[in-house]
Amino acid sequence: MAHLVSYPPPYHGPTTTEESAMAINGVQFQKGLSMAQFIERYGTKERCEAALVQSRWPNGFVCPACGVGDSSSFRRAGRLYFQCSACRHQCSLISGTVLESTKLGLTRWFLAMHLLTQSKNNVSALELMRHLGVCYKSAWLLKHKVMEVMRVREESRQLTGRVEIDDAYLGGELPGGTSGRGSENKVPFLAAVQTTESGQPVLACFSQRPFSNEAMKDFAARSLALPLTLVSDGLACFNVASAIGAVHDRTVTGGGAASVKLPQFHAINMVLGNLKRSLSGTYHAFDFTKYAHRYLAEAQYRFNRRFDLSAILPRLVRAAATTSPRGAAFLRAAEVCQ
Ligand SMILES: [Zn+2]
Repeated sequence: MAHLVSYPPPYHGPTTTEESAMAINGVQFQKGLSMAQFIERYGTKERCEAALVQSRWPNGFVCPACGVGDSSSFRRAGRLYFQCSACRHQCSLISGTVLESTKLGLTRWFLAMHLLTQSKNNVSALELMRHLGVCYKSAWLLKHKVMEVMRVREESRQLTGRVEIDDAYLGGELPGGTSGRGSENKVPFLAAVQTTESGQPVLACFSQRPFSNEAMKDFAARSLALPLTLVSDGLACFNVASAIGAVHDRTVTGGGAASVKLPQFHAINMVLGNLKRSLSGTYHAFDFTKYAHRYLAEAQYRFNRRFDLSAILPRLVRAAATTSPRGAAFLRAAEVCQ
């Protein structure tokens, strides 16, 4: 159906009253982790350190050099270090993790991770800069490191059962450009949503890639698992469904507004609508061609954990503690799209 997640955001106005939203969507009315609870749990450097130690070594310290469990700890320039009792290897609490070589303190990292997981919409680097009281470059790097952690966690995500799939574009239209398939200045991505039997969305997967048969086959191998019923429109690349052993429920829609209302595409249209609102309400623009994969992963990570907002921060801290360092050069490099 060639959804376009465009910039600047078109104004749609309110679509639901608060009452009907409450009836429809319990997810949005979860308590989550309040700012007061966050401060209580992670408001000091010591509490953040304790949480990170627990996340990195849940069964006690393990020497990164020799694997022995005994250590002593000390501080250098305010940072917590461990020294292995067997081989004398020294490591800081953050070395070897995605936090390595950060100039920001742990309390800022935790606050950033809290804001990036609990806010209803995404939080831009500019907003992070203001909330954390840091320069834009630091906020940008921090945000991209956290998004990278989210991307790594979602990399192995597989959808199964009933899956609605569609092609979409991320990006702004050039003046005089055409919208939809084949238009300029847009990053194509596949959006897939696993639903319940009755069509309620459960999990989502977004993948930046062209709409070729090869790219679709690769997507299926990575992100789809049998048994599978793939619900799609008439776009040719979705025909690989049969070749991978899936049932293909194909509806040739002809595109346009009418196809958006078809009940078999309810979940995918809802998820893409939410994605569009969440991105266009947060980001004025970003370099789509370089960073789309990471923004899509962030949206996917948050969507797939929306049922348990109070657990999402500790899970993200665990993921950050077990993700290897990502330098600025890596973060600024474009994703090589197949
Ligand atoms: Zn050791």
